[in-house]
Amino acid sequence: MFKKDKLYSYKLGLFKKRNLKRNAEIQLDSLHKLIPLKLSEKRYKFLKSLLYLREKINFFLFKKLNISQIEFTLTTKCTLKCKNCTNYIPRLENSEHRVMNFSDFKTQFDNLIKYGKIHKIYNLLLLGGEPLLVKDLSKILDYAAKSRNVEKVWIVTNGTIIFPEDLINTLKKYRKKAIVWLSNYSENEELKSIIKDNQIIEQFKNNNVTYYYNQTFKWFHVSEDIKDSKRSREENKQYFFKCLDTCLSVFCLSVFDGDLFVCPRAGVFYLKNLYQFEDGEHISLKNKDKHLKDKLIEYYSRDVYSACKFCTIVEDNSLPRITPALQIKN
Ligand code: SF4
Ligand code: SF4
Repeated sequence: MFKKDKLYSYKLGLFKKRNLKRNAEIQLDSLHKLIPLKLSEKRYKFLKSLLYLREKINFFLFKKLNISQIEFTLTTKCTLKCKNCTNYIPRLENSEHRVMNFSDFKTQFDNLIKYGKIHKIYNLLLLGGEPLLVKDLSKILDYAAKSRNVEKVWIVTNGTIIFPEDLINTLKKYRKKAIVWLSNYSENEELKSIIKDNQIIEQFKNNNVTYYYNQTFKWFHVSEDIKDSKRSREENKQYFFKCLDTCLSVFCLSVFDGDLFVCPRAGVFYLKNLYQFEDGEHISLKNKDKHLKDKLIEYYSRDVYSACKFCTIVEDNSLPRITPALQIKN
C-alpha cells in the first residue's frame, strides 16, 4: 500500500532531471531532436531556462504534473524480425504477446489523465511492434489527438503496411497535432522488397499528412542473451544512472498491457516473466487509483528498477553502429 509520507523520500533531483528538465527540453527539441528549432546556442539555453522555470512554477506552485513523453505499446506483434530490435520484440513467445483495443486504450488513457491529474503530455506515442497491425488504430489516434491534455501524438511505423483510409482521414483531421514517424530502413538492401516507404509517402503527400522520415539513424548492436547480470542493488542503481546519461528513451514512460514501465525493455522483460515488481514499482493504468499522481511523482524519482538487472543497454550503446533492421533468418 502506498504511503503518502514516503512521497518525497526519493531524491527530488531525479524527479527534476527526468520530469521537469526533460519537459523543458522537449518543448524545444521535439521528439529525439527530430524537428529541432534553429536557434543560437545562447538563445537555446535562455529559452530552456525559461521553460524550466515555467515547469517548476507549474509543478511546485500550481501542482500541475506534465509528462514529456509516454509510449503506448498497442501491440507487441510486428511485421519484421529485427535481429537488433532494441526492445527485444522478436524474442517474445506467442503466449507473451499483447494487443490493445480501443476500449483498453480509452480506459488506460482516461485513468492516466484523471487520476494522474496530468495537465499536459507533450508527446504521446502509439507504437508496437507495428501499430498498423492494430485494427482500432484510427479510433485510438482520434481519441488521443482530441484530448486537450495532449500536445502531439506520434504513430511510429516501420513502413511495411500501407495506411488504411480511415487512418489517413484521422491524420488529416489532426494534421497540426498528429505526426507519423516513418522509420527509414532504406539503407538495408534485404528489406527493399518489403518496405513500402515510397507508396506511404505518396499517400501522406496526397493527403496533407504530417510526417517525419529523413532520419538516418544507425542502429547499435543488441546483446543476444537476456540474462540476469547478478548486479547488486547498488550496482544496478549505478547502471541506471549510466543509462540516464546515455539513453534518451529512459526519459519516456512506456505502457505495456496497462502497466507502466521505465522504458520499453523493462516492459518486455516483464512480459517475459524475468522479474517481479518491487514495492512502489508497479503502476497500473487499468484501474481507478486516487493515488496515481503521487505514485507517478515517486516513479520519476526512483533510482533503481528491477528490470535494469537484465539490461545491457549501456554496453550496447557503446558498440559500433550497424545497418538498421537486419533480419533474423530462420
Ligand atoms: S520493426 Fe521495430 S519493433 Fe519490429 S522488430 Fe524491428 S525494431 Fe523491433
Ligand atoms: S532497463 Fe534500465 S538500464 Fe535498461 S534501458 Fe531501461 S532503464 Fe535503462
